[in-house]
Amino acid sequence: MKLKKVDEQIAKLIEKEQERQDTTLEMIPSENHTSSAVRQALGSVLTDKYAEGYPGKRYYAGLEYYDQIEDICRERAKKLFKVVHVNVQPYSGSPANLAIYFAVLNPGDTTMGMSLPHGGHLTHGWKVNFSAKYYNSVQYGVDQKTNLIDYSQVAKLVKETKPKLIWVGATAYPRIFDWERFAKIADSVGAYLAADIAHIAGLIVAGVHPSPVPYVHIVTTTTHKTLRGPRGGMIMITKKGIDKDPDLAKKVDKAIFPGLQGGPHENNIAAIAVCLKEASEPGFKRYGKQIVENTKVLASELINHGFNLITKGSDNHLILIDLRNKGILGPEAQDRLEKAGITVNKNSIPFDPNPPFKPSGLRLGTPAITTRGMKEKEMKLIASWINEVITDPRSCSKIRQEVKKLCKRFLLP
Ligand SMILES: *Cc1c(COP(=O)(O)O)cnc(C)c1O
Repeated sequence: MKLKKVDEQIAKLIEKEQERQDTTLEMIPSENHTSSAVRQALGSVLTDKYAEGYPGKRYYAGLEYYDQIEDICRERAKKLFKVVHVNVQPYSGSPANLAIYFAVLNPGDTTMGMSLPHGGHLTHGWKVNFSAKYYNSVQYGVDQKTNLIDYSQVAKLVKETKPKLIWVGATAYPRIFDWERFAKIADSVGAYLAADIAHIAGLIVAGVHPSPVPYVHIVTTTTHKTLRGPRGGMIMITKKGIDKDPDLAKKVDKAIFPGLQGGPHENNIAAIAVCLKEASEPGFKRYGKQIVENTKVLASELINHGFNLITKGSDNHLILIDLRNKGILGPEAQDRLEKAGITVNKNSIPFDPNPPFKPSGLRLGTPAITTRGMKEKEMKLIASWINEVITDPRSCSKIRQEVKKLCKRFLLP
């Protein structure tokens, strides 16, 4: 029976959300619009069964097709990212990272990651997170002048604290990571080096951000950001990882199941398989390239409008604006832009003088609007709209109409 008949209330709200997405610009850099093929796999009968274990080694019967689907998914990821082993069962990015701690550390061991206020992720050792509560967390950051990762600080801290695990990856860092430099630093103390490519997985696949695979032991990712799949996570082990620790793949698989999770969400895994197929097609390379080109244009236009960009620009899909010279803080800018139909998020900037719930920055990105087919011309338009809304709150409703018109020309997948 149709959802509308069974549950009108929820059906109606989904319809409303569809309309909201249709008529607004999604510019939160961690978000995207999935294909209908991905959503079809996600909403399939594969949500019905338990599949605890791994293909060929399951606890329940009736899993002939589930095994084939998970195998296909793993093989596609292996080929696409050029890694030796993949686990596609993590429920999302955070559980994938949790599994790495569980696999290679004991409680109390030293771990290192970029601090949250400087662009790192909660799970990289931020104080409120399990990663700092159960492990001895050391945090590095960016240089106060350039806002670029302070590699000499990282090297110094590593020498002093000898972490067993080092994380590289971020949620609000607009520049390329120097994987090779991190590898030299990690290798100098024999640490595991983990790249968390949640934000940039799609850019790496498209060849517009260097891959960490030759340099790190472990790669974790979400599947729903630039990779444009369903919400989910993956853990990948590189050849370098197996060379360092021949049991690493086994340790990671055991950490996910039975260590942390029960039955995998195989509908998600099927949808990830579909997304990986889409990501291996030539169109995806063009998509990744366009994301970066769009961000560059958006960044330079915003600079022309007098905005201060952290690191003065971007190499990837995201931009971090320091709003302080505009006489407005992140929360108000976010609200105003939402009224105008442009969805972005307030964000701390490095060394932010304001508290995390009232930060000075705004984070925005191009993955979702690039999925809609928008290009350089539209970026110039959007930059001018952002400027108008930030400069004059009375312009919100006028810009809202402009945004609607633009969205009509660039439909969702
Ligand atoms: C988004 C993100 C995660 C967490 O993903 P969830 O799916 O939200 O748990 C982990 N690491 C980084 C760097 C991220 O950007």
